Amino acid sequence: MRAEILSIGDELTCGKILDTNAQWLSRNLEDLGIQVLYHTTVGDDLEANIEVFKIAAARADVIIATGGLGPTADDLTREAIAGALGVPLVQNEAALEQIRALFAQWKREMPSRNEKQAQFPEGATPIHNPNGTAPGIDITVARKDGPNAAGKRLPSYRIIALPGVPAEMREMWNETVRDALEEYCQSISGQKRVIRFRTIHCFGEGESQIERMLPDLINRSHFPTVGITADRATITLRIQSEAANERECLEQIDPVAKIIYEKLGSLVFGEGEETLADVVGKILQKEGKTLSVMEWGTRGRLSEALGSSEETRGRFLGGLIVRSAEALRKTIRYSSELAGSQEIPVGFSDATLDEHPDWNEQVAALLARHALKVFESDYSLAVGPYPNQRAGALPVFLALGKIEQGVPRIRTQAFPFGGHPALVDELYLKRALNLLRLAEW
Ligand code: AMP
Ligand code: MG
Repeated sequence: MRAEILSIGDELTCGKILDTNAQWLSRNLEDLGIQVLYHTTVGDDLEANIEVFKIAAARADVIIATGGLGPTADDLTREAIAGALGVPLVQNEAALEQIRALFAQWKREMPSRNEKQAQFPEGATPIHNPNGTAPGIDITVARKDGPNAAGKRLPSYRIIALPGVPAEMREMWNETVRDALEEYCQSISGQKRVIRFRTIHCFGEGESQIERMLPDLINRSHFPTVGITADRATITLRIQSEAANERECLEQIDPVAKIIYEKLGSLVFGEGEETLADVVGKILQKEGKTLSVMEWGTRGRLSEALGSSEETRGRFLGGLIVRSAEALRKTIRYSSELAGSQEIPVGFSDATLDEHPDWNEQVAALLARHALKVFESDYSLAVGPYPNQRAGALPVFLALGKIEQGVPRIRTQAFPFGGHPALVDELYLKRALNLLRLAEW
């Protein structure tokens, strides 16, 4: 079954907003085993809309449209579908009642233009919208010319139109559309099919190295299929299986997951929605330890990642962010006062760190010790400096701190960093979190 996604709205074609609906829907259609072959974006123009619906109808079996269902003059999706199919728009009394009820609930008078949201192309069914006035449209149309010779198109196609507002669209998909499409696929294939997948995340090696470590799995003919994707240095393996029921799917997936865990060992950090920060939080919970951070090189990103994970609650105590040379100098001086002046790198007070990159390691260590002291945490991590593009291959340092029998112990690790700043930021953050994950304190 082939799908096409139509994204409708001038705000998309003029570049004001990004089409996130198409991305979200594509992923969700893939989860149902429906192949998405086309994304089409069209502005709020009736003729153009009718044309894209006709084109989609000729080449796809499922068409999912978003946008253009509102009450205003530029919302044309109803008219476009009716126009493309050559059918009239008819009022749906139940849908009209629901829209009226919604306005009554809001204690607002219903503008007459909202009535148009209860109009549907003849033969269509409304899709309930729990949050807005615009119901969706669902219509299945028999092809006049039947399935094509190559058997690539089904005897009928189905159009589903949803509102453009992403939250409304997603809720309607989750509540109604997903199940309806799953059933539709089953009725067409004549058998009950269940698709399940499991995603396993890795960090520490590149995509091609991981692929090399799993030679037979990431082969298109392997079943269940194993896909590999890289997203800013996180490599994800996605095992997907298809069977008559959930149990059979899981029976196919589990042995493959086991092989991945065996072959990749500690490169695997989590599954599904789990992030590196979540995993660090779980480790801290298990050990009953607390953590603090000092960010000289990651500019707050580490605190943000750790602070926004639910798993670090009560375990991640906080972080200090140093963003200027002056702030760094003050922090070091204060830290040295706390610990004894011999901790100031030799000559530090007379020069900037830019001129003495060889001090970076000592400074990172000092900051890790400072965090232990200020936050009274069991562990600390300091990162710095920010990777300097001009300095080429100069390393950055991650310093791990730990209180051992009342005494701070610091270990540092050097990482050479290079590449585009957008990537370097993410890589630096993930390297730091990964070091925390794998640290043998
Ligand atoms: P509409 O249903 O066309 O009235 O769209 C309502 C709002 O939803 C728009 O103003 C956008 O902010 C948002 N929207 C519409 N289409 C998309 C899309 N494809 N991706 C993300 N947001 C969208
Ligand atoms: Mg619109």
